[in-house]
Amino acid sequence: MADATPTPTATLTLTTNPTVNPPTNPTVKSGSSPAPGPGPGLSPGSEPEIWRESARDLPVIGRPDVLVVGAGSAGVAAALASARRGADTWLIEKLSHVGGLAGFGLINLLLTLDDGEGEQVVAGICQEFVDRLDSQGAAQHPGRGDWGSTDPRQIEQWRKWGLIWGAPPEAVRYSVAFEPESFINVAYDLLEAAGVRLRLHTGCAAASSVDGHIDTVIVESKAGREAIQPSVVVDTTGDGDVFTHAGADAEAVTVYPYQWFRMGGVGDLGLGDGSDVGKTYFRTTDAGRVLVPWGGPGFAPFRVDPLDPDDLTRAEIECRRAVMAEVARIKQHTPGFSESWLDDIAKQIGITESRRLVGDYVLQKDDDKQTFHDSIARTGHWTKRGVVYDIPYRCLTSPVVDNLLTAGRCISTSRFVHQATKEIPAAMATGEASGAAAVAALDRGGQVHDVDVAALRRDLAASGAMVAGDDHPKT
Ligand SMILES: Cc1cc2nc3c(=O)[nH]c(=O)nc-3n(C[C@H](O)[C@H](O)[C@H](O)COP(=O)(O)OP(=O)(O)OC[C@H]3O[C@@H](n4cnc5c(N)ncnc54)[C@H](O)[C@@H]3O)c2cc1C
Repeated sequence: MADATPTPTATLTLTTNPTVNPPTNPTVKSGSSPAPGPGPGLSPGSEPEIWRESARDLPVIGRPDVLVVGAGSAGVAAALASARRGADTWLIEKLSHVGGLAGFGLINLLLTLDDGEGEQVVAGICQEFVDRLDSQGAAQHPGRGDWGSTDPRQIEQWRKWGLIWGAPPEAVRYSVAFEPESFINVAYDLLEAAGVRLRLHTGCAAASSVDGHIDTVIVESKAGREAIQPSVVVDTTGDGDVFTHAGADAEAVTVYPYQWFRMGGVGDLGLGDGSDVGKTYFRTTDAGRVLVPWGGPGFAPFRVDPLDPDDLTRAEIECRRAVMAEVARIKQHTPGFSESWLDDIAKQIGITESRRLVGDYVLQKDDDKQTFHDSIARTGHWTKRGVVYDIPYRCLTSPVVDNLLTAGRCISTSRFVHQATKEIPAAMATGEASGAAAVAALDRGGQVHDVDVAALRRDLAASGAMVAGDDHPKT
């Protein structure tokens, strides 16, 4: 990774009323008038004074069969799987676009769809995206015949695209570099064709549950606060926002943020043999363009709590400054970059993990040797050849909420296994499984624990997903 360690800058104080110094013992004010509490004048980390919001009536804007919250790669796959099975499916997203980290988060590498030894382990909707991207010339990946190859020339070729990771002995993986604009376009086309009701610019603000059953999800947008009353909810927020509102248990961590960016106008010297391509930056679709995976320990200035908006704000600003310094350094010192320019900076900061559900099963490191009767998806490991996790349905469900599923990077795993299950192909695989499971639960009054998992597995396999499980013993 390039030497992008930024010079620490003074802490930004982002307060509109810096004189407010709220008390450490919160006191509760209540009333019908919206008297302002400390509000945006809070110093980060201080205890807020409490202001009790008055009860008010919200418009119920719909009662869909399935509500998917968060339209990253997992949420898009979940909504597609649900709508294609005939369910009235809503997908809400707080940002202005779908795709999440795989879109304008610029994490534009599918790592991986294989087991590291030449066998594909993720297909289904993820493969459908690859096929669509291929047909638009918006993806680069090794052909099937090359997966698992240990030919050094092949390995070097794909390393330049950011598709070779992990300790030796290395092999060519079924991994894919893709163009994010095309990924997002494919998502819109497929969502529309499937009849998903998509609402952008709308975030989930709260969920109301009674006896472990979510009856209402409250969303917030320019239209104000609105209520949605779905039969089944799929939380694909990446951060587990919905399952937290619903009272499910989670584990959470702090992380060093990333902010990937792309540069264009890179000359031959920057992309040829002997350059840093494949080390500190990668080739990406379109001639003369590179993807720079900036950030993480040693580069990002500090760890952030991804659930703290003040921390995130500080990270957005300081990472951006550091990225601009890195762009200037690359242009000045890297052969082939003198005429280059900054194409774009990730619009979603790179948070590798935040909350993980503590579900009905927590997938563990040694479970790569296990088969499960309720496996509904599989994933390889991007840095470890021969490691494949079958993912039990129970990793998508919570013991304390009966009409909730989750998918993507916040499913129930140990921190170690999260390294594998958070990857985009795995997120799409669990997303697809959650969407199909949500529909299966509709016949059971929305009760996700009553789903006939054997039938769900057959359904997923019939639609092209790879589910493995104990009728596909590991060798
Ligand atoms: C730096 C970095 C490098 C990575 N490298 C790779 C790689 O090379 N290859 C790979 O395959 N994977 C990689 N990953 C992992 C992968 O990118 C993510 O884990 C994956 O994209 C997660 O998908 P997701 O749909 O679960 O979550 P996200 O992509 O985070 O999507 C969640 C969506 O939910 C929305 N949302 C959040 N909260 C709310 C709310 N309250 N209401 C409404 N909407 C909400 C968000 O705006 C977002 O669109 C990397 C991750 C990072 C951060």
